[in-house]
Amino acid sequence: MTTHTLIQFFYLGSAILFILSLRGLRGAESARRGLFYAELGMLLAIIGTLLKQEIISYEWILVGLIVGTAIGTPMGLWIPMTKMPERIALSHAFGGLAVTLVGVSEYYLFKHHGASWNVLKMTATGAEVLLGAITFTGSLMAFGKLQGILPGRPTTYPMQNVSNVLMLVAAVGIAIYMVFEPGAEAFFYIMAAAGALLGILLVMPIGGADMPVVICLLNSYAGLAASATGFAIDNNALIICGALDGGSGFILALMMSKAMNRSFGNVIFGAFGTVQEGPAGTTATGPAPNTGSVDDAVEILRVARSVIVIPGYGMAVSQAQHAVRDLSNALKANGAEVRYAIHPVAGRMPGHMNVLLAEANVAYEDLYDLDDINGDFSATDVALVVGANDVVNPAARTNKASPIYGMPVFNTEEARSVIVLKRTLNPGFAGIENELFIKTNTMLVLGDAKRTIQSFASGLKESSH
Ligand code: NDP
Repeated sequence: MTTHTLIQFFYLGSAILFILSLRGLRGAESARRGLFYAELGMLLAIIGTLLKQEIISYEWILVGLIVGTAIGTPMGLWIPMTKMPERIALSHAFGGLAVTLVGVSEYYLFKHHGASWNVLKMTATGAEVLLGAITFTGSLMAFGKLQGILPGRPTTYPMQNVSNVLMLVAAVGIAIYMVFEPGAEAFFYIMAAAGALLGILLVMPIGGADMPVVICLLNSYAGLAASATGFAIDNNALIICGALDGGSGFILALMMSKAMNRSFGNVIFGAFGTVQEGPAGTTATGPAPNTGSVDDAVEILRVARSVIVIPGYGMAVSQAQHAVRDLSNALKANGAEVRYAIHPVAGRMPGHMNVLLAEANVAYEDLYDLDDINGDFSATDVALVVGANDVVNPAARTNKASPIYGMPVFNTEEARSVIVLKRTLNPGFAGIENELFIKTNTMLVLGDAKRTIQSFASGLKESSH
């Protein structure tokens, strides 16, 4: 068997493992296995690449390996779950930068060292550099917004959409021109710069609650850019894996925008997240929300026969998932039925709540999707909101002026009693007031969710003795 054939076997094996990995990641029980397949697939891809005969020196690869491991290992070990979206945005940025640099170096080899070149290679390199540059700066912008380094709200200016579209058309136009005139070096770098600028300009007007869709879209661009790289450097593993990444990122983006009842066009051109004057809620001028004590809440929970727990980002912040499970057990022991309502955009990444609750061994069959549980609130004694805010904001249904109008939310206020756990009267991620907090059947118990839930559980156990 020639080395070339052996390499192709490694690549084929890695592609199969990546497909099996995606299959495994479809369910909580098989997810660990799925991750293992992905790790194995990556190992095979790396071995296959290291066997390549055109590698002239392993020293720089070794340096890259050491630097990458030195950065990646602490990131994997120490970045908390609450910072996952930021970490993912950074990974996309690194991915985008890597493919852009590969594209630039390939072009440089052609232009200055006479490397072979053809129409397919120029097409692929153009797509690679353009998408890679957009992904790089777009992901850095998303990271900045999520991390709070940049304002999370949309930044808008007159003629923004028109100028963005014109710039995109110009950048794609240059990429097409390069296919016919591959020697026009200055245009190549102008195209790369335009891509980098576009990444910034496209993410700038996207604010607050639309970040889930943007992150998934950038994920998809990174995958497509990697796939284009595969064509440019003739690497089958990259073509297949990039296409898998691009395709799955795109499907996820579609699912997230469906979950938010928003079209792509609306997300990209709508400047959603603009903070408007919301209905009177937690504002200084509106009616004050009802706050209550732990004891008040325990009284309500003690007599409840049905409880729906709605977890949100605050559960992740306070790491309350284990305490929530303990409270559920105490409620069940007290004769109540306990279910969890999982909103597709709750938290800061797709599946965030599912991951946390699975970590705390909450039974998967106790978790209900929005559509499956939303009709049940009116027949429920208590809706327990654990650090969720935007996903329980009735303004999405009732207030046409609200920036989240149209996003499906839980019918929380229909429950007989609503207990909301949060630390302050501040709004959620989208930065808007929540009229749920001033409803007469709502009680806010202020404080860190984990500690509050723990007090609920011990209060409940005491009162049942
Ligand atoms: P929100 O971000 O709307 O609200 C979180 C709530 O948790 C706040 O009310 C906050 O109030 C409270 N909180 C924070 N820390 C604690 C704590 N330690 N203890 C108790 N409460 C706490 O969360 P949701 O899950 O309802 O909504 C998710 C939002 O994030 C949506 O707008 C979504 O679009 C967006 N998003 C989602 C992504 C995804 O992929 N799922 C990605 C990026 C954005 P306080 O500070 O007063 O405690």
